[in-house]
Amino acid sequence: MAEVELDLLENAFDSLNEALAKYQEGKDGDEKAYKFCVQHLSHFLELILKYYVTQCHPLLIYKNPFAKIINEESQTIGLFEAINFLKNGGHDISDKFEKDIKWLKKLRNNIEHHKFSMDVDEVEETIGRLMSAVNEFDESHENIDLSSNISTEQYDLFHELANTYEGRLKKAEENVNEALRGLDPKEDNMSVYHCYECDHDTMIPDEDSSTGYRCTFCDNEESDDIEAECAICGDSCPIWQMSCWEDDEFICPYCSHDPEYRKDD
Ligand SMILES: [Zn+2]
Ligand SMILES: [Zn+2]
Repeated sequence: MAEVELDLLENAFDSLNEALAKYQEGKDGDEKAYKFCVQHLSHFLELILKYYVTQCHPLLIYKNPFAKIINEESQTIGLFEAINFLKNGGHDISDKFEKDIKWLKKLRNNIEHHKFSMDVDEVEETIGRLMSAVNEFDESHENIDLSSNISTEQYDLFHELANTYEGRLKKAEENVNEALRGLDPKEDNMSVYHCYECDHDTMIPDEDSSTGYRCTFCDNEESDDIEAECAICGDSCPIWQMSCWEDDEFICPYCSHDPEYRKDD
């Protein structure tokens, strides 16, 4: 393994171990420690993603791998270039994972410029999600086995964090199955929609929701895929294509004489 890759990996895990230690301090009551956790974790993500890029070729760490001379001063790629490269190479990086990484990076920048406010719950939740996402990514693509590189003191915490998200997801999926179980497939036509907020197939009917649906994982109520019945012809159509007619009544594009759908008008 090239030296640069080893350095990347070693530094990545130093940062991750530090991040976890700070997270624990935060959990133990020292809320300021989360600030350092965010910084270390952000650093970890940047390094580990760059490391994954170097798995295709060590020189890809450089902005210009075709330069005549490459030395310590050569510019290396940034976090977003690494993400783009991995995505272009067919690696699965979900929108949510990317959004979380951006969120964390922004928070880190704000911390560094001393103009930040931090919602501890949000920080904890996002960190848990990131841990689980990066762990999942590692398992499905590169298999460095993150947990074997985590210091023994932080090992339990890492798993707790990575699993909290998975545990919540499992519960959300159970709720979906629960909702489906009591239904008669012939009589009740219930659809489960994809939630674009959290990227799971967890949107089910909910009486209290303004759209009639709610994600069992993240409580989001909106999805472009939700269908409704046209109040005139009774056909089903995604709500975003329909026009709204009084409360809870939708008219499909055909019945509302949308010229795109009705050329004879
Ligand atoms: Zn959701
Ligand atoms: Zn209609």
